[in-house]
Amino acid sequence: MKLHNTKTRKKEVFEPIDASNVRMYVCGPTVYDRAHLGNARPVVVFDVLYRLLREIYGAEQVTYARNFTDVDDKINARAAETGRPIRDITAETTQWFLDDMGELGALQPDHMPRATEYIPQMVAMIEGLIAKGHAYAAEGHVLFAVDSWKALYGNLSGRSVDDMIAGARVEVAPYKKNPMDFVLWKPSTNEQPGWDSPWGRGRPGWHIECSAMSYELLGETFDIHGGGNDLMFPHHENEIAQSCCAHPEGEFARYWLHNEMLQVEGKKMSKSLGNFFTVRDLLDQGYPGEVIRLVFLQTHYRKPMDWTAGKAEQAERTLRKWYSQAEQALNNGEVHPGIIGALADDLNTAGAIAELHQLSHSDDVVALRASMQFLGLMGKEIPAWAGQPDIELSAYEERLFEARQAAMQSKDFSEVDRLKAAFISAGLEVRMSKTGVELVPGAGFDPAKLEAL
Ligand SMILES: [Zn+2]
Repeated sequence: MKLHNTKTRKKEVFEPIDASNVRMYVCGPTVYDRAHLGNARPVVVFDVLYRLLREIYGAEQVTYARNFTDVDDKINARAAETGRPIRDITAETTQWFLDDMGELGALQPDHMPRATEYIPQMVAMIEGLIAKGHAYAAEGHVLFAVDSWKALYGNLSGRSVDDMIAGARVEVAPYKKNPMDFVLWKPSTNEQPGWDSPWGRGRPGWHIECSAMSYELLGETFDIHGGGNDLMFPHHENEIAQSCCAHPEGEFARYWLHNEMLQVEGKKMSKSLGNFFTVRDLLDQGYPGEVIRLVFLQTHYRKPMDWTAGKAEQAERTLRKWYSQAEQALNNGEVHPGIIGALADDLNTAGAIAELHQLSHSDDVVALRASMQFLGLMGKEIPAWAGQPDIELSAYEERLFEARQAAMQSKDFSEVDRLKAAFISAGLEVRMSKTGVELVPGAGFDPAKLEAL
């Protein structure tokens, strides 16, 4: 198996430290809100890698850890806005995340540590860093001293400390010895969550949790560390600095994998552009999780991925066809070797999808079913939505459009209103623009209700 290692900027043959215990850590979500579509990309990418490792080394031989950040100023802000207890917000959001990612076919990692369960381990790691001269306490804060690690800091993202100071948005604070020094521990007010520590009541900075939890669960050296490429700097640089200085006997992570970002219809997803949505929004609009997953898998993880409604429609048609074929097989097939081969080449998911098309083309329904299961495109059963008819809505769209054109002339909108109300009550979302009408089935769409029209 070959993987592109960000650390060496090369595709390398993957050699595990211990083939009977292959270990992977992936940075998880901060739990204060629903995961947006971009948050789902690393989950799906590293789920595919997890499945591949289990296939190659054996399911029991792979350990996958992904954290939940449940102490963070964004969570504190959400609690202040809503008046709800932090614990309720983080518990609810954690479950949302697991439910939504489960809909996308993502297996749950073996370990899902929560930051607040590892505070003593973080404090111990920080104490060790101070003792070794890599960190210092100042005004209730503890900071990592970047100068103590200057030669290596920035290696992953390929920047020197001096370049970073020149280019980065660095938080300037009087107690910092070097402006790049980053927070390991910070003081908490009485209203903020806090724990007793040698530096007073406070809470950890974000970066230290991944170092402390990966050490506890996977050891001082483990195989793969993953995350989005937006985390490379500063988060992953800081993880490396902390872990390598606290445990110089180890190497921390040997292979670093970073996925590229996600766009929507060719544009960066943002609230101001109105193209921001959560995974749950898409599911509620009637996009099945398998469709979202297939769209994701069509793009290699190191390329920017563009979510478009057109791709989703195409993916749904493809899946309906594949399911109708896979339905003719039992759960006794083998994953096609071509799929393993494609994924073993730096997770070439697009190549694996091409293999699925081949299996469909040659009507190898047994291998198709097993391979779709392996790729997380179905479980033991065909998903229920695939059994429902793919109703052709274009005639209804045209009818509403024409009714509106007529109403513009006659100024009598009663027929338009009647049709709209009927569509909505059938569970369709009605989107009207100057150029046309689009009817989008929601989760509760009932085609039978259209028959009376
Ligand atoms: Zn992390």
